[in-house]
Amino acid sequence: MDLETLRAWDRRYFWHPFTQMACWGDDDPWIIVEGRGNYVYDAQGRRALDAIASLWCNVHGHRHPRLDAALVEQLGRIAHSTVLGASHPGGIRLASALVECTPASLQHVFFSEDGAEAVEIAIKMAAQYWINRGRPEKSLFLTLDNAYHGDTVGASSLGGFPLFHAVYGRLHFPTRRLPSPYALTQAEGDAGRGLDAWLQALDALMEEEGGRTAALILEGGVQGAAGILPYPPGLLAAAAQRCRAHEVLLIVDEVATGFGRSGTLFACEQEGVEPDLLALGKGISGGYLPLAATLASEEIYQAFLAPFAEAKQFYYGHTYTANPLACAVALASLELFAEPQLLAGVRERIAHLSAGLARFAELPYAAPARQFGLMAAVPLRDPHSGQAFPYGDRREYAVCRRARDLGVYLRPLGDSIVIVPPLSVTAEEIHTILRVLDNAMAEECAR
Ligand SMILES: *Cc1c(COP(=O)(O)O)cnc(C)c1O
Repeated sequence: MDLETLRAWDRRYFWHPFTQMACWGDDDPWIIVEGRGNYVYDAQGRRALDAIASLWCNVHGHRHPRLDAALVEQLGRIAHSTVLGASHPGGIRLASALVECTPASLQHVFFSEDGAEAVEIAIKMAAQYWINRGRPEKSLFLTLDNAYHGDTVGASSLGGFPLFHAVYGRLHFPTRRLPSPYALTQAEGDAGRGLDAWLQALDALMEEEGGRTAALILEGGVQGAAGILPYPPGLLAAAAQRCRAHEVLLIVDEVATGFGRSGTLFACEQEGVEPDLLALGKGISGGYLPLAATLASEEIYQAFLAPFAEAKQFYYGHTYTANPLACAVALASLELFAEPQLLAGVRERIAHLSAGLARFAELPYAAPARQFGLMAAVPLRDPHSGQAFPYGDRREYAVCRRARDLGVYLRPLGDSIVIVPPLSVTAEEIHTILRVLDNAMAEECAR
């Protein structure tokens, strides 16, 4: 099919996520046909460095030989079989490997397809855990302003974006919300005081609502979708301690931060945090296929064990739960992490990225960048006013469009441009991403 037909059909039939389709045709839809290593190739044969890891999920690069081989091997056996009433080797081995590589508290794995589902499952497990234990009053969920946990009704109930609540608020279950830790750090002027202020708010809410609270949910170390807003160090560990003291379950959402993005395999490790429930997605399959997982502690799992007639089992499942192809590629991806130099290399690249971003602080068209692990956000500024461009100006899109023409694939997030490359990005490629972004900003922001 020729490029013009593809573009015409795309505009006519294909409703894209998070997209104002009225503007979609302004720009010719960009059609990606291939990937190799850290690059994608479009229908015109031009390549672009994948600086968004195909929406934060690609880990080892595109078409990694070991991952491709694992998929082909599984395809030679079976593409899909259900795990309702049966099992399969890939799912069994992956469940065991995930328990081995995550914090020690987590002992059982429930598979699904997307990050939002991993969160939905954690919500339902937490709620049913308290019902099964004879304490149905513990049904409230605590969450954060600016939180993002996915777009299904349950997951977005826990989200903290006012826009989503304005539109879908009537569908959401009630929650209690704590301030965004990053906002407090900004208001207080440093991370230590920001953490103290946040813990005061948490302590007050736990005093008031702890008795009827099922769980607190936190992203791992950073509020990602809100614009890469890092927590003050120590927050996860301090929150875990409060949760234990008040008999509140801790759900950590490492959909974005898991699988090396933070510099360790999981962000929880950096503060010795052992969650009751852990949601994983994005990088779990190396960025190949839709797969997600919710890991549960032994105590949670035990609360679902009962004589059959008591009907305490977990009532949840999907058609494609633990798809064998997705499990096979996820196992191959985890095997690559077993090589110790992989994460050491990621930590070097994280240092490279922060050294490069430090230079951006002096640019008239950018505010200081925010970074957590191998993820960063560069906020655009109007050099004339020093302020963000007005909403609707779509300057961020113009910058990304220009960067694409210069060979780097970037995406906007609010008033910022995010950089979330595959973990396999090289130091030289980080340099290229930053140079191209700088050039694109200079051209598009100074006009
Ligand atoms: C992306 C994301 C999700 C949702 O994952 P999907 O696979 O897009 O449903 C949930 N939580 C966090 C922290 C995320 O970054």
